[in-house]
Amino acid sequence: HHHVLYATPEGVEAVVDTGHTHPEAILWQRLADYRATGGYALLTRCRAGEVGVEALLDGLERAGLRGLGGAGFPTFRKWQAVRAEPAPRYAVINADEGEPGTFKDRVYLEREPHRFLEGALVSAWAVEASALYIYLRDEYPGLRRVLAEAIAELEAACLVAPGFVVLRRGAGAYICGEESALIESLEGKPGKPRHRPPFVAQRGLFDRPTLVNNVETVYWIPLIHEKGADWFASQGRHGRKGLRSFSVSGRVKRPGVHLAPAGITLAELLEEYCGGMAEGHRLVGYLPGGASGGILPAGKADLPLDFDTLQEHGCFIGSAAIIVLSDRDDLRAVAANLLAFFADESCGQCTPCRVGTEKMLTLLERDEWDVEALERLARVMMDASICGLGQAAPNPVLSLLRDFRGELEAQNLIVKG
Ligand code: SF4
Repeated sequence: HHHVLYATPEGVEAVVDTGHTHPEAILWQRLADYRATGGYALLTRCRAGEVGVEALLDGLERAGLRGLGGAGFPTFRKWQAVRAEPAPRYAVINADEGEPGTFKDRVYLEREPHRFLEGALVSAWAVEASALYIYLRDEYPGLRRVLAEAIAELEAACLVAPGFVVLRRGAGAYICGEESALIESLEGKPGKPRHRPPFVAQRGLFDRPTLVNNVETVYWIPLIHEKGADWFASQGRHGRKGLRSFSVSGRVKRPGVHLAPAGITLAELLEEYCGGMAEGHRLVGYLPGGASGGILPAGKADLPLDFDTLQEHGCFIGSAAIIVLSDRDDLRAVAANLLAFFADESCGQCTPCRVGTEKMLTLLERDEWDVEALERLARVMMDASICGLGQAAPNPVLSLLRDFRGELEAQNLIVKG
């Protein structure tokens, strides 16, 4: 087991581990303890009509809360979109944390399942959902037991109607973290992404309007209500709003989940939260968003790590899985590893992704890269894949061609000039 440090909003640090935890070893906050600190006050006030939906949405807008699963869509807008559709509606929580390098949701679920459940139930209340589904990745078996017990506590305390919260197991497919594939899987079908439109907000689970939120997104809702939207918004840096949970791994002294201001730069994150680079390693580049978000060079360590900025550099932050690479890492091996992952996890329903990922992997293994072929293939995959997996799969390769030409030349993978 790999133990790491975790910083809480209060600045307290605890030791957590990034691997699978045995169910007996998980110490979580029970319902009574959560309620003793004011837990479920928001849900109770919502149900009693003391907090209206409009006020709640307004708070989320002012807080600047955005989807923390990867897409970064403003939360209040997503909720509004689903509310505007006819009933019956469903609420779904995406707890299929499968992006390589991401382990933040697991940390929150292991520590405070009730804070998460309260946020999830408030989201279901806000769209008047008929049921709340939680889709939990199967690689978190310890957490399944924690959540099942926490839900049972809620039912026993009459805080939720029996059967309203449905806990479902994923089955180890990365693609089921994509919301429409997740919904297919919830319906008992193979997890294959749907064409859009219609969006899941219009026709999602069982063909009904569906609100899908990430674990961490709803986790913040009770705290935003308690401490105020302005408190949350003011936590950002470099003009950005809010907090982000960075899952940091790779060549740093202190890997782990670091709760830091949205918009912090990699250089600041390394310096202030990670204890710097690991001994004997020099920063060469970093993945800002797990396998899908591309690779940025050391020269771009001063960019604010946030949704919009990185897009201008051909990358994206996604679920904020930061993987730090050093002069001891082989960049071609990194790209090939990521492409092999995408080839493995492609659901196979569209050709640009199914064949393109395999083909790109073959092209990467050549002694000398055919840059034109790589770029043309990347274009086809980005333009013609049905979902984000195939669209993002060429990102690591495009990043290397864009920002790491010197390194590629030094490895004789491309010719100078
Ligand atoms: Fe499936 Fe890949 Fe097409 Fe997405 S892009 S639908 S994962 S084949």
